[in-house]
Amino acid sequence: MRDVVIIGGGLSGLAAAGELQRLQIPYRLIEVKKRLGGSIMSEARGGFILDGGAFAFHRDDDWTYLKELGLTESLCPVYDSHNRDLVAFANGSQTVIDTLAQGLTGTFIHRMAVSSIGTLDGQFTLCLENGLMWEAAAVIVAAPARHAERMFRTLSPELSRGLLDYGYDTITRVSIGYKKGDMPVPPRFPWDVAIPFYTWTDAPQRVPPEHVLLNVGVRMLPKAVAAEAIVQELHREIKAQGQPVISRVDYWADADPLPPHLPNFKAKMDTLKQLLPAGIRLVGSDYDGLGFAERIVAGQNAAQQIGAYLQP
Ligand SMILES: Cc1cc2nc3c(=O)[nH]c(=O)nc-3n(C[C@H](O)[C@H](O)[C@H](O)COP(=O)(O)OP(=O)(O)OC[C@H]3O[C@@H](n4cnc5c(N)ncnc54)[C@H](O)[C@@H]3O)c2cc1C
Repeated sequence: MRDVVIIGGGLSGLAAAGELQRLQIPYRLIEVKKRLGGSIMSEARGGFILDGGAFAFHRDDDWTYLKELGLTESLCPVYDSHNRDLVAFANGSQTVIDTLAQGLTGTFIHRMAVSSIGTLDGQFTLCLENGLMWEAAAVIVAAPARHAERMFRTLSPELSRGLLDYGYDTITRVSIGYKKGDMPVPPRFPWDVAIPFYTWTDAPQRVPPEHVLLNVGVRMLPKAVAAEAIVQELHREIKAQGQPVISRVDYWADADPLPPHLPNFKAKMDTLKQLLPAGIRLVGSDYDGLGFAERIVAGQNAAQQIGAYLQP
């Protein structure tokens, strides 16, 4: 059987890869970055677990996938600005990525982007940025709209136009660790639209004894302010004492998709997806929901639809 190409190694692409593997359909996954995970990345440093992207979740989210991945014991408590009880992954959100990737035996190509998708002699053809051309029996595009738009320009100009100018809000994600007592708990920022969310935790799985970790989302132009200056400004705003013991700043220019907040978004996406040729699926947080569970289910569904398409 000819293989399926998955474009994008974030949560959606990896979930699709896992499902293709379960269905015994050969696949290649191509990811432009050197790492898997997309907007999910975690780091263990100085006894802290720091998340550069997705971090906090509601307890009442759909956690069915944790059971499938054997991760039912992987959550720890986190609190938000109202001291509400949320959860995070004890070893960082990257746990989900690593677990999904663990058993995958398909071919993975890193540091290579797909530029465009076309057709030739009844096959799909993918032009890579290095000029090579791949053939594929089917394609799962698991990349954000700002990249997918370019891939579809020749194959489906109407679909491409529909994804053009897809807007995002920026987020600068800041993690700051303190000695207990140096940071007011719960921390309080003056009400400010530039800070859409903040959470804190002292869960022993994520924070060394007698320490506490603050996570903040700041809306500002990416890289407009140096990382250290942002950390010091937040430090002043919450009236913390001493100095942070650790910090991490990640700039996300395209963090928060805006179109899903518009009326008729779902109907518009359904219409756009109908423009996809049979044998190509489009999946990702820009099209059908941000949540981890939604991403995994959507990736698996895309793989099943491709499986049905490839049936003789
Ligand atoms: C800062 C931030 C905070 C978040 N916080 C939360 C949270 O707290 N809770 C929550 O539920 N969700 C959160 N989310 C959303 C969640 O992280 C996303 O919904 C999910 O990770 C998206 O997965 P994805 O695979 O659809 O897309 P992505 O993670 O964007 O992955 C797409 C992949 O495609 C690759 N790619 C792009 N173009 C190409 C190309 N041409 N060729 C090859 N590869 C390509 C990219 O490099 C990337 O790895 C957050 C997102 C961000 C950015």
